[in-house]
Amino acid sequence: MKNVKRQGIILGFVVYLGLVSILTQVLPYIFGQPLILPNQIRRVSNLSVNTLEIRPHALNVNEKGSNDLLPNKVIILNFDDSYKSQFTYAKPILDMYGFKATFFQVCNWIDSGSEENEKMSWNDITELSKEGHDIEAHTMTHPHLDKLSSSELDYEIGQSKQCLLDHGINSTIFAYPYGEGWDNPEVVNIVSNYFDLARANSETPLTFLNCDDTMDDYTPTQSSCSTYPDNGTLVGSYAINSWSHRHIEGDYSTADQRCEETCTYYNNSQMFEKFVGYVNSQDKYNTNGSINAIPIVVYHTIVTYPDLTFSKRPVDTTVNLFEEEMRYLHDNGFEVLLMSDLVFDDM
Ligand SMILES: [Zn+2]
Repeated sequence: MKNVKRQGIILGFVVYLGLVSILTQVLPYIFGQPLILPNQIRRVSNLSVNTLEIRPHALNVNEKGSNDLLPNKVIILNFDDSYKSQFTYAKPILDMYGFKATFFQVCNWIDSGSEENEKMSWNDITELSKEGHDIEAHTMTHPHLDKLSSSELDYEIGQSKQCLLDHGINSTIFAYPYGEGWDNPEVVNIVSNYFDLARANSETPLTFLNCDDTMDDYTPTQSSCSTYPDNGTLVGSYAINSWSHRHIEGDYSTADQRCEETCTYYNNSQMFEKFVGYVNSQDKYNTNGSINAIPIVVYHTIVTYPDLTFSKRPVDTTVNLFEEEMRYLHDNGFEVLLMSDLVFDDM
C-alpha cells in the first residue's frame, strides 16, 4: 500500500510540475506576459513527502543490531522558562537514569529572578549543553507573540537565537510562549526565518512524524508537516504538539498563569497516573520498532513539597513525582530523545 501511495505522490508531483511549467513558461510565451502563481515555490515543495524524522543515530539502531530490539516506546522531555530548579533538582535525576532533555531558554531571564522564581545562570546552561542536553530558544522576554508588531516579533524570535549563539549554542528549534502564535502566519513566517522546527502546546502529548491527523484521536489540527499545506492553514513542523505537565487545569487568563475558574486539581498520584496514560498513548501507533508518534512532555518548576496539594502554581512538579516518572520511563524501556533528534524531511 505504501509503495502505491508513494508512486501516486510521485506521479502527482510530476504532473503538477508539468502543469506549473506550462502555466509559467509556455502560456506567457504565447500571450507575451509573465504569469506568477501565488506561493509558487512553496506550493511545489508542498507536494513532496513532508515528514518529521528521527536522526538515525538517535535510536542506536546499529548498537542494537536487530529490529526486534528497537524500542517501541520513546519520549522527549522538555524544560521551559530557564528555572534554576530544573538544574538543581531535575538534572541529578536525569543524570541518575542517563537521560538527556531539551531546555527552552528565555534569554533575558537567564541569571535573574527571585528566590521562588530563580533562573539558571549561563554557567548552568553551558554545563547542560556540554553534557549533551539540548538548549533551544523560547524568546527574549516570554511575551504573547500574537500581540506584537513585526519588529518586536523579529527581536523576540531572531534575537533569542542570536543570544544563544553568543554563548556558543546553535539553536534550531523554537518554542512559542503560552503555546500561542503557531497558528498566526506572521509569527510562523518570522519563526521560519530563524528556526527549523517549532513547538506548540496541545491537548495531546503526541507528535505524529507524518503529521497525519487521521491517526490522532485528540485534536485533528495537523494534516501535513509542511508549513503551508493546501488548505492554507499553518501547521506541521512549526506546530509540534506537546503536553505541559500541569497539576491544576482550567482557565489561565490571569497574567501569572494561575487558574481562577473551573479549576481541576491533581495530587501526585493522580498526576503520575495521568503521565503514565499520556506516555503510553503512543502504543497503538508504534509497533515492531516503527516509531510514528512521540510524546513530548514539558516541565517547568521543580519543587520540594511532599505533594502537589501543597502547591498553588499549576506548572510545579514535585521532586519525588519527577523521580517516580523518570523511574517509570527507565523501568519500562523508554528511549529518551531530544528535540534536536527530530528533523524535517521535505523530500
Ligand atoms: Zn514558557
